Amino acid sequence: MNETSLNKRNGYSMVDDLQPILDGKQPVPNATSVVIDAGATILHYREMHCGTALFPDGKKQWSARFFLDYGQGGGLYGSGVVAWVEWKDGAYRAVAMKFAICDHKPVAGPGANPSRGWRPASCEKCGLDMSVDSGD
Ligand SMILES: [Zn+2]
Repeated sequence: MNETSLNKRNGYSMVDDLQPILDGKQPVPNATSVVIDAGATILHYREMHCGTALFPDGKKQWSARFFLDYGQGGGLYGSGVVAWVEWKDGAYRAVAMKFAICDHKPVAGPGANPSRGWRPASCEKCGLDMSVDSGD
């Protein structure tokens, strides 16, 4: 994938970007292990999507559960957590990995006013609007 050609200013597309990953048709991108607590990590999410996780080494998790990140504006960030259950050390345990289509690198936009909670930003790599408005 050529990340420089992406322009995801308004967020990633569920159908075009995320569904192929949830269906196990495309490998889970940039997967990294959640080593602290898989349960605590996935409990942040409101919605769960059932799917199949395909990993770059060809392994598949047939009953994977996906949890997707949304930005403040409601757009998909193209990232999230995938979790499944594995028999390990005498018990079934939740295993979770974080993934991200783009390893976002936010750069501050013009008009930033951090003292008023306005931090316009976009990802240098994919163009995703990552602005945060925490003002009142
Ligand atoms: Zn990005």
